[in-house]
Amino acid sequence: MSKVIIIGAGGVGTVVAHKCAQHPEVFSEIVIASRTLSKCEAIVKELDKPYITADSVDADSVPQLVELFRRHKPELVINVALPYQDLTIMDACLECGVNYLDTANYEPKDEAHFEYSWQWAYKDRFEKAGLTAILGCGFDPGVSGVFTAYAAKHYFSEMQTLDIVDCNAGDHGKAFATNFNPEINIREITQNGRYYQDGKWVTTGPLEFHRPLTYPEIGPRESYLLYHEELESLVKNYPSIKRARFWMTFGQEYLTHLRVIQNIGMARIDEVDYNGTKIVPLQFLKAVLPNPQDLGENYHGQTSIGCRISGLDKEGNPLTYYIWNNCSHEAAYKETGMQAVSYTTGVPAMVGAMMFLTGKWNEKGVRNVEEFDPDPFLAELAKDGLPWNEKFNLDLELD
Ligand code: NDP
Repeated sequence: MSKVIIIGAGGVGTVVAHKCAQHPEVFSEIVIASRTLSKCEAIVKELDKPYITADSVDADSVPQLVELFRRHKPELVINVALPYQDLTIMDACLECGVNYLDTANYEPKDEAHFEYSWQWAYKDRFEKAGLTAILGCGFDPGVSGVFTAYAAKHYFSEMQTLDIVDCNAGDHGKAFATNFNPEINIREITQNGRYYQDGKWVTTGPLEFHRPLTYPEIGPRESYLLYHEELESLVKNYPSIKRARFWMTFGQEYLTHLRVIQNIGMARIDEVDYNGTKIVPLQFLKAVLPNPQDLGENYHGQTSIGCRISGLDKEGNPLTYYIWNNCSHEAAYKETGMQAVSYTTGVPAMVGAMMFLTGKWNEKGVRNVEEFDPDPFLAELAKDGLPWNEKFNLDLELD
């Protein structure tokens, strides 16, 4: 029986709230707090339970967060606001003795830069305070790391290559929309690509490398090599990995829009002067693009995200392995009112919180998800709407 605060009332926050509400035996009190109180109140109204309440906070402000935590005294904060708020929320957790979980690594607002160093720097302070911070507990990062930990625990004596493959084969009927916060999403995919090879990071141009990959129940889709944050922790925690890459599918129409957005300067994250007002073009663009939370109603098709791994099995024989989840946009919408990208992020965040609150993940300090026992997490994930599949000794399509 534990009290949690969910910070962020967007697509992911809505799913986390729905899923926590399904487990009152674990989440006995839930506070949904975000910048815009009315969004929190709308979720509370929909869930309609006396132990779920709304509050407001500017999570860029440590004093405001400290005041919120002192008032509610939660055991755990589930941070599904934006990556910009990770450090302020971690600071407030340390000040108030609260545990922490998030789904995306910290990013400074003025630089699209993805690395764990800022959050790993809190390790000693969390350890000394006897607190736990669980980093990157969405799907990717999140389940991608737990899948890798599961493969290492049960099947491999040595993992040599890891390819995380992320396909969204859904259709929302809009000419262009992003599936989660447009600002965060466009910052991520317009960066240079990067992958890990023989102990070094290799940089590519943005979306420079691509190839068709075949996804279960979906078929072949053009998949683009991107940098993704979990690669950094996975090659550190599994040093036998010689090559680690991340692939994501994009349709031609999406890429054409993205190219135009970049070419006309609308993906810029620096301030420009507009009639005496400072605006950041990408933040302005977010205001005119479809809200990812509103895509669900007409979204059809599935997502498919998984890990393709090669190496040596426990007996030292060559092994290839694929573990994945497919999630239907329609089913996600029917259950939570949100599409599958929000759903596949929010469900693992709830499951990670449950693992912590029930003592199954209890190591102290700042930790990435692969550092915990994958078995109880994956058992719960399957029960909570994201069942997973595995295949052995198959062609991984990735040389
Ligand atoms: P949304 O933009 O839909 O929601 C973000 C929420 O955070 C909004 O309610 C927003 O409030 C709130 N917020 C923003 N700034 C502040 C602030 N300073 N103080 C308080 N609240 C604030 O984003 P999503 O729900 O799509 O994504 C949430 C998180 O999930 C992001 O960090 C994203 O990177 C991550 N994510 C992770 C994935 C994974 O697999 N690991 C996949 C997809 C997303 P307001 O409404 O007022 O703007």
